[in-house]
Amino acid sequence: MPKIYEMSPHLADLIAAGEVVERPASVVKELTENSVDAGAGSITVEIKSGGMAEIRVTDDGCGIAAEDVETAFLRHATSKLRTERDLEAIGTLGFRGEALAAIASVSRIELLTRERGAAEGTRLKLEAGVKTDRAPAGVPEGTTVYVRDLFFNTPARQKFMKNDRAEGSAVTTAVVRLALSHPEISVRYIRDGKEEYHTPGDGNLQSAAYTTLGREFARGLLTAENTVDGIGVSGFVSTPAAARGNRAWQFFFLNGRFIKSKLLQAAVEQAYKNSLFTGRFPVCLLDVAMSPAAVDVNVHPTKLEVRFADERAVFDAVYWAVRGALDREEAPRELTISKSTLSVTRGVDAGDIPGNKLFAPSGRAAAAAPAGGFMKGRASGGGDFFKSVPAGEYRPSGDRPPSRPAGAREDPAAARATGPKTQAAPKPVTVTFRDVAAEPEQTGMDLPERPAAGPEPEAAPRGDGWRYVGEALDTYIIVERGESLILIDKHAAHERMLFDGLRSRKYENASQLLLTPVVCKLGEEAAGTVMENREFLEELGFELSDFGGGSIALRATPIDMDLSDPGGLLEEIADKLASGGRRDVEAMRDDVLHTVACKAAIKAGRRTDPGELTGLIEAVLTGRVRYCPHGRPVMAELTKNMLDRSFKRA
Ligand code: ADP
Ligand code: MG
Repeated sequence: MPKIYEMSPHLADLIAAGEVVERPASVVKELTENSVDAGAGSITVEIKSGGMAEIRVTDDGCGIAAEDVETAFLRHATSKLRTERDLEAIGTLGFRGEALAAIASVSRIELLTRERGAAEGTRLKLEAGVKTDRAPAGVPEGTTVYVRDLFFNTPARQKFMKNDRAEGSAVTTAVVRLALSHPEISVRYIRDGKEEYHTPGDGNLQSAAYTTLGREFARGLLTAENTVDGIGVSGFVSTPAAARGNRAWQFFFLNGRFIKSKLLQAAVEQAYKNSLFTGRFPVCLLDVAMSPAAVDVNVHPTKLEVRFADERAVFDAVYWAVRGALDREEAPRELTISKSTLSVTRGVDAGDIPGNKLFAPSGRAAAAAPAGGFMKGRASGGGDFFKSVPAGEYRPSGDRPPSRPAGAREDPAAARATGPKTQAAPKPVTVTFRDVAAEPEQTGMDLPERPAAGPEPEAAPRGDGWRYVGEALDTYIIVERGESLILIDKHAAHERMLFDGLRSRKYENASQLLLTPVVCKLGEEAAGTVMENREFLEELGFELSDFGGGSIALRATPIDMDLSDPGGLLEEIADKLASGGRRDVEAMRDDVLHTVACKAAIKAGRRTDPGELTGLIEAVLTGRVRYCPHGRPVMAELTKNMLDRSFKRA
């Protein structure tokens, strides 16, 4: 039997260091969290050689009393936790009391600190956790920690470090997270002598985002807010058009602290369902505020991962906050022409759209453009942060958004657009806008007729504040409105309208009985899949029967659809049903409805009777239809100004 010894404190520190201090970025994270806990109003982080040579964190917080400076470096020394009960109510960031000890054990530390109001401060130096120098010092109030030669005494560890650039990037990411979690703190970041960011510390999340992540990010953010059952969600999400190819720009915070959470990620992505292409990820910056007692933040030593007592409630709160933001998204897109490419950007102010009070700005104070100079810069090294792509086991529950953000109006258009879930939402208590009141049933969900190849097109439609100009390339509807030409992708817009209508069961009784059943030869397997799901499909408005020999007889479709290739339709549906695996019914339903909407929508490349376009045009102009179910925008705008510029008139 080997003899059992008690570990020396230094060995214990080294082991803890392995857990807490992985790389320069983790040192920066721990030191800055201490600064936040100390009530700092401004924090400066400076690194040299990726933080391997030197890390400096300076704050203007409460400082450390002369008699406590050495205690602070003892393992399990903390001023934040006295009793077990405190564990539950912990509101501060660090509480394990081992960060300073751990960092000190693997570096050369110099601490300069002066307690607020104290006559003088203290300088303390340690090497590998051993005090080498201590003296009174004339230093400003607050604390500065220098960490030099990280891992100088643990060469094995040092070998694990990537190059300075990569380590520096990881520090940058940590600083960005800090700045975003604390817009009220002015964060200054200096890398190898160059100032990278300096956030204003004005409490405005968007200006912190603008400063650290750049203009590209801050532009096109929507405000998301929701509070339900004591869970507050606030922050920003991107428009579907501003989605990105990975999750690097998804930031989640819990009570102001950066966290990783598959749950929140799934909640956000669920909310974007049907607005994004696969492989595109929404950008978000969301803070969840809730009672610390309902969260276990101590799951992992670096405290990035948390466990919620009531995951379902948190999921719902986030889901509905994001849905609310997407449904309220008000400004249609403006087309900008640059050289040969067309790109969609935010442009038209909703308030400018004649008669469009529905989308008048509301509760946008927090989204005001940041003042002052901006610095360019991006979050780097965050690309690999979110690793796997969970299917997201959760689906939103609840029949409607359980609450609305303060100051938000009940928006009937939004309620309609979200389908059956929000159909049950209470009627708006006060409807003050004429347009809102006048418009409720003419939702654009009215089932448009199939485009008939009729002889004479009806008179060109003319709506309130707009005029139909024509159709170009049999694909784009051209509408004149005010000082602009609006181009509408008729298929995409119609597809979206039908999809929303189908989802909200608007067409419940619109099932089209075919004069004679159409027999589709699908093959045994596909036919089997269809028949297995017969009940499900009939709920959606199909009527089918087994014709034997791998054939299905189709007797009715959910809405009037293009049945030039009924076999193709059923095959596609069989495919979707078969590939669904263990997905939930809701997702399957959406998938099948996509196919239905796509097949029923007016086709690009085919002439459409202008008389039938009115509902579609209005749905787009009022913003009820903004993206096709795949997330492509449905309209583009050419302003007179742009045209004038092209012709050198302006
Ligand atoms: P913890 O943060 O978990 O308490 P640390 O080892 O990180 O443990 O810090 C130990 C203690 O040192 C803290 O509880 C705090 O009292 C003090 N301290 C550390 N950094 C600062 C700072 N920047 N300003 C004021 N006090 C600090
Ligand atoms: Mg700490």
